[in-house]
Amino acid sequence: VKRLVLVLGDQLSKPLSALRAADKDTDLIVMAEVADEAGYAPHHPKKIALVLSAMRHFAAELEQDGWQVAYTRLDDPEASTSIVGAVMRRAQEHCTTTVIATAPGEWRLHRALEAAPLSMTLLPDDRFVCSLDAFNAWAEGRKELRMEYFYREMRRKTGLMMEGDKPAGGKWNYDHDNRKPASGDMLRPAPMQFTPDEITEEVLNLVETRFGDNFGALRPFHFAVTRAQALRALDHFATTLLAGFGDYQDAMLQDDKFLHHSLLSPYLNIGLLNPVEICQRVVEEWKAGRVPINAAEGFIRQVIGWREYVRGIYFREGPDYTARNALGHDRDLPALYWGAETGMNCLSHAVAQTRDEAYAHHIQRLMVTGNFALLAGVDPAQVHEWYLAVYADAFEWVEAPNTLGMSQFADGGIIASKPYVSSGNYIAKMSDYCGSCAYSVKDKTRPKACPFNLLYWDFLIRHRDRFKGNPRMGQMYHTWDRMDEDRKQAVLDGAAEVLSRLDAGEAV
Ligand code: FAD
Ligand code: SF4
Repeated sequence: VKRLVLVLGDQLSKPLSALRAADKDTDLIVMAEVADEAGYAPHHPKKIALVLSAMRHFAAELEQDGWQVAYTRLDDPEASTSIVGAVMRRAQEHCTTTVIATAPGEWRLHRALEAAPLSMTLLPDDRFVCSLDAFNAWAEGRKELRMEYFYREMRRKTGLMMEGDKPAGGKWNYDHDNRKPASGDMLRPAPMQFTPDEITEEVLNLVETRFGDNFGALRPFHFAVTRAQALRALDHFATTLLAGFGDYQDAMLQDDKFLHHSLLSPYLNIGLLNPVEICQRVVEEWKAGRVPINAAEGFIRQVIGWREYVRGIYFREGPDYTARNALGHDRDLPALYWGAETGMNCLSHAVAQTRDEAYAHHIQRLMVTGNFALLAGVDPAQVHEWYLAVYADAFEWVEAPNTLGMSQFADGGIIASKPYVSSGNYIAKMSDYCGSCAYSVKDKTRPKACPFNLLYWDFLIRHRDRFKGNPRMGQMYHTWDRMDEDRKQAVLDGAAEVLSRLDAGEAV
């Protein structure tokens, strides 16, 4: 063996830069299931099972393609607990210290690999539209890094939905058409599900034994674990669900966990699908006249816009990004995030669905669980750890900027120009949660008042000095100032009561 080629659990792509640089005849591929990776956060059992099963399937495919693969299973008695340890073990066995790898998607592993006593070459991860150098060049000298402008660059770069140098249809962004609440639809297709094969069953048993106590239901397990399956999931989404994607992107329904969302993020993030190919598939449907322009544009904006943009921010801002706490929030994450009882129907549904599926769609993450944590002043590091643990698509480069930046304003406004906070009225408008809630979104005082309403004002008042000058928030301060004093006091007293119940570990 001349060199080792390290392939990580979220690098399951045959065109990976490390594989392109490798030689089938003389190099050895190293893949390892290690306890440190499975345990650096209390990952949802479904997430661990997805990654391990997809790794085992990918290793088998590589062997079929003629590669030599040294694969270590988690229950191998010789298994090292860390990635570096696993590589060192193979290096000793094969008397080589030369290793090539594609750069990992998080600082923690990046640093560990660079510090290893090996001759390590880290190649850029080019499974993205925008390289990190290109992102930095775009960001350089700009006062504000707004996603919308970045997205237009990505449209030009990929040529997706472009007519010459103009956006198809004349507008870059059709979000205006995308804010419709949804109603129950018995005929709405469900996302594609896959029956576990023998390899997956073996992984499920292992995960049950080792991680059965982690938050989250392991079974039933329906994720795609191979590229072929992920392509079928993509096709199913494009032909059945995509048409309603734009219209109902921000909608929430208590009896419909998935609505028109694609559920493709786990497959993209572990490398089974490529972002450009999924956008091309979506654009094909629009070109054929089968889906409206707002659906196709809305979808590709999430993938070549938001997804690429947050990755650029994560690497540009550096390893300390996850420790930021611009608003000085320090409350412990309430127990309801781990399934403790709550009368708040929206939160109870979002958390239950997270436990069962390792999935919640964007508006649930942003405007229900994220919004509540921000309003309640929860320590952003704890919020970050929760999101990193509970979602099957959670990898730090994409999770951290979404959680700390977009959702918690912990980066002081690099990603969001104002905090994503709202009262219960937004949830009432976009969902059907409020109708069967113990609280009332119309009541203004305890005990019935919706906690979101109380905490919303409390948040704005606590942070008045910081936000009063924000042009998009001035109106809210104006509304508060015009309220009569008794009402203001009742709201602040109600908020204080909710917060003290949270601190005492009591149900809200
Ligand atoms: P769809 O609604 O079908 O969207 C299509 C695709 O667009 C997704 O598959 C995803 O790849 C991409 N996308 C959409 N929004 C974003 C976004 N804001 N950032 C990056 N990509 C996006 N996404 C993750 O992939 N991993 C995470 O760990 C993650 N954590 C999040 C934490 C918070 C607090 C918030 C508010 C959002 C987070 N997101 C994360 C973004 C988004 O919620 C998910 O990508 C999306 O819900 C995945 O479901 P889907 O595939 O059905 O998405
Ligand atoms: Fe959520 Fe408030 Fe509506 Fe209850 S009333 S579901 S707590 S927004």
